[in-house]
Formats: sequence, C-alpha cells, structure tokens
Amino acid sequence: MRFPITELLDDQESRRWIEEHFHPEGLKCPNCSSDEARHFRTTETSRLRVYRCCHCDKTYNLYSKTVFEKKHLRPVQVVMLLRGVCKGESSAELADELCLSRTTVHEVRKQLQENAKGLQPDTLLQDELELPRFDGQVTA
Ligand SMILES: [Zn+2]
Repeated sequence: MRFPITELLDDQESRRWIEEHFHPEGLKCPNCSSDEARHFRTTETSRLRVYRCCHCDKTYNLYSKTVFEKKHLRPVQVVMLLRGVCKGESSAELADELCLSRTTVHEVRKQLQENAKGLQPDTLLQDELELPRFDGQVTA
C-alpha cells in the first residue's frame, strides 16, 4: 500500500526545518554572504522563494549550494528523502513514495554519501579504551 506521505506533510514546516538545518545562521546570499535580499519570485515546482541579493544582485533560494540545488523538489520531498536515505530505504521505495525518479533519488543519495565521506576524519580512531572484563561475579 502506498501512503500519500508528501500530501500529508506541510511544506512550510519542512521549509522551516530545512532552513534550520541547512542554514543555521539564517539564509544568506551564497555569493557574498549578505542577508539583505528582496523576494524575486516563487518557483513553480518546488514552491520556493527566490531572493535577489541587494549587494551582488545574484539570485538564490533555500537549496542554493546544496545537494538539492536545481532538483526542483518540494521541501516535503527533501525532508522525506533525507530521512529515507538516513534510514537506508531503497531508492525504488523512496522514488515511488515521494513521486521522484529513481535517478534523482540515486543521484541525491550518492552526493549525500560523498559529502558524508568527505567529513570523515583522516586519522584512525584510537582503540586504547579498555573496557572492564566481566569476571562472572554479580554483586548485589
Ligand atoms: Zn550577494
């Protein structure tokens, strides 16, 4: 049974969640870091506000310079896609549930995994922590 999950969730709340996690210091121009911008237009498919920077005149939105740039996904789809990838759901399942192509899901998953790999430390973890051995005696 297929649940209409993207129709049951709120785009505005998803947008708020994305901004909080993708732009913890607030949405700023990715080109010059200015936070002075004016509403330029709203995208048709993803329903995102596009801003025009008051300083450098470039346009940007919530997904600019992220894995989701130019993917035309609604905020609900982005949140559910991130959730699904983190939970290890299959691309076929996610594509079906979120009304996306398998290619889109696969590309996003691949980019997320590459980014996560890039965040891993170069040094090995120290394995010096010794856990106490259980000697079979139970103390009351
Ligand atoms: Zn700017």
